[in-house]
Parts: sequence; structure tokens; C-alpha cells
Amino acid sequence: MNRPPHGQRGRMSYEQQRRDLVSHLEQRESLSDETLDAMRAVPRHAFVPQQHRSKAYRDSPLPIGDGQTISAPHMVAIMTELLELSYGDTVLEIGTGCGYHAAVTAEIVGPENVYSIEYHDSLARRARETLTAVGYGDISIRTGDGKKGWPEGAPFTAIYLTCAAPEFPPALKDQLAVGGRLLGPVGKGQQVLVRAVKQPDGHFDEEEHGYVRFVPLQ
Ligand code: SAH
Repeated sequence: MNRPPHGQRGRMSYEQQRRDLVSHLEQRESLSDETLDAMRAVPRHAFVPQQHRSKAYRDSPLPIGDGQTISAPHMVAIMTELLELSYGDTVLEIGTGCGYHAAVTAEIVGPENVYSIEYHDSLARRARETLTAVGYGDISIRTGDGKKGWPEGAPFTAIYLTCAAPEFPPALKDQLAVGGRLLGPVGKGQQVLVRAVKQPDGHFDEEEHGYVRFVPLQ
């Protein structure tokens, strides 16, 4: 058997912890192989701050600085599933945070097809550094207000928010392709995960997927 890498002796390797986490998700949620493979591929520990690294493979949110949090792995997996992504889809993320969720999306659609907007410049910079270091440097990241979307990248096959909005911002609805999925937490106090699918006549079919708790959209 190989010795665990230096610094991890006596503990399970990150790879083993990640496999265990994905087995837990597989039992708990109904997830496709694409989603499970993406969750198996992305090294979550590389995205969380050093002081929280030992908790990287718990199924819980963690602080990432600037008062923000990385979502729990099961939430990332559920959102990935609800977006019904395929290779080559063009995807816009609102709320890059540490970049972890964008990397999971990139595993399925390809990094060059992922666009992500982050409000805090410090987080956007750090996310770009981490993503480049772990092999997702082709993801496009911009500092700005996600409510305005990314007009030059439109139309998107999928758009998701990792921060809660009182309602889906109109610009995001405009920048979605027909048949495309818009997903995110909606609500001010109580938030509900909503998936809206754009119809040929421009209206949206909406479904609710349970109560959730995300940081608010700025
Ligand atoms: N997907 C992230 C989760 C980050 S938490 C990850 O994997 O780490 C939500 C993020 O949304 C925070 O980083 C927050 O700064 C950002 N945010 C809040 N309001 C925003 C806005 N108007 N535009 C872009 N990003 C926003």
C-alpha cells in the first residue's frame, strides 16, 4: 500500500475522504453518474481556506472569507443535477465565491464554457488563482454585479445563482436560451430553490425544489 502523503499520516487521504463523501451523496440523493463523477473529480480541499481544510469533505458549508460561504456538497450536487448539464452547454454562474461550484460545472460542460461573476474582487481573484492551479484556468471570471448577467456570453443554456435573490433578475431571464434552465434560491427571509425553464414564447415554467439557505445577493 502507498504511504499517505506527508502531513496526512494517520489520517485518511483527501482522495479517500472525497470518495467517502461521494458515496454518502450517492446514497442520500438521486444523482446521475455525470454529477457523481464531477463531485469525485474536483478537489474541494484546494478551494477552502487553509484553516478549514480538514473539514473540506464534510457535507457542510464552510466560511471562505468576506463573510461568504462555500455551499455544502449535497447542495452543489443537487443544483448540478437540476441544471441537466451536458458537455458543450454554455453556463453562467452568479456568485463565484471560492470557485468550487464552477469547477464542478466545468467538469461536465468543459471549463471554456463556464462564465462566473463574483461581487467581491478579493474572492474573484482568489478563485481565479485556485481554478488555474487545479486545472480549470479556462473558466471565465469577472468581478461585478451578477444581476446584469454577462451579455457578451449570451445566450446561455443554463444560469444559476449561488446567492439568494428576491426574484430572478430580468437580465438573467433575457440572457437564457429557449429551453434553458435558470436555477437559484429565491426569497428574502425564507428561500426556496426554484428552477425556471424558458419556453419558446418567452415565458418561464417554474418548479420549486424545497427550502434552502444561501447568502443574499448584493
Ligand atoms: N459558488 C460558490 C458559493 C459562493 S457563496 C462557491 O462554490 O464557493 C455566494 C457568492 O455570491 C458570494 O461569494 C457572494 O460574494 C456572491 N454574490 C453576492 N451577490 C452577488 C452579486 N450581485 N453578483 C455576483 N456575486 C454575488
